[in-house]
Amino acid sequence: MVPEEQLIIAVDGPAGAGKSTIARLVAKKLNILYLDTGAMYRAVGLKALREGISTSHEAQIGDMLKKTDLDIRFIDQEQRIFIDGQDVTNDIRTPDVSMAASDVSALPVVRKALVKIQREIAARQPLILDGRDIGTYVLPDAPFKFFLTASASERAKRRLADLRGRGDQASSLEAVRMDMERRDRQDSERAFAPLRQAEDAMLVDTTQLTIDEVVDVLISKILDRQVS
Ligand code: C5P
Repeated sequence: MVPEEQLIIAVDGPAGAGKSTIARLVAKKLNILYLDTGAMYRAVGLKALREGISTSHEAQIGDMLKKTDLDIRFIDQEQRIFIDGQDVTNDIRTPDVSMAASDVSALPVVRKALVKIQREIAARQPLILDGRDIGTYVLPDAPFKFFLTASASERAKRRLADLRGRGDQASSLEAVRMDMERRDRQDSERAFAPLRQAEDAMLVDTTQLTIDEVVDVLISKILDRQVS
C-alpha cells in the first residue's frame, strides 16, 4: 500500500502521446496537482527566442537563466507559468517554442535548474507530473510510473488538432510530423537524461485507446496498489 503522502505519479513519453491530457484528467480524479514539466523547458526556450540568444549555447543560456525569475503557480489547481513576472502560459505552445524547448532541454545547466524545482514541488504534495525523464531521472523512486506512446501518425494527428484548437491554421500534418520526429530524436539522443522508458514503468500504447480508456488504465493501476 502506498501512503497518500507518497502518491507521486510519473508519466513519460514522446511528443503527442497524450501525456498532458491524461495527466490532467488523472489529477482531477485523484484531486491532486498536475505539474507539466514541459512548460518549464518551453518557458526557458521562449525567453531565449525573445532575447535572440542561441538555444544551444550553454554559457549564454546559463547566464540568461541566472537573471531569470521562473515561477510556477497553481491557480484553482491549474498550472500557470511566469517568466520575470509575466504569465507566458499561453505563449509557449507554438512550433518554434517546441523546438527551442527541446534545444535548451539538452543543456545540463538548464536541466539541473529545472529538475531541482520539480523535485521541490514533488516533495511538498501528492503530484502527477509528465515529461521525458521523470521516471528515470527526476523521481526514480516514484511509486507509479507510466510510459505513454502511440504511432507516429496518430501522435502527429493529435498534435495538429491541438495546434488547430489554439488557432494555428498554418501548420500542415506533414510539417507537424517532421517537427515531432526531429524533436523526439533530439530528446532521445541527448547525453543527459534522455527520453527513455524506465525499466519499472508500465508501457501504455494509446494508439487505439480513447482518452477515457487511458485514464482508466492509469487510475485502476494506481488504486489497485493504493488499497492492496
Ligand atoms: O512535453 P512538451 O512537448 O511540452 O515538452 C517540450 C520539450 O521539453 C520536449 O521536446 C523536451 O525536449 C523537453 N522536456 C524535457 N524533459 C521533460 C519535459 C520536457 O526534456 N521532463
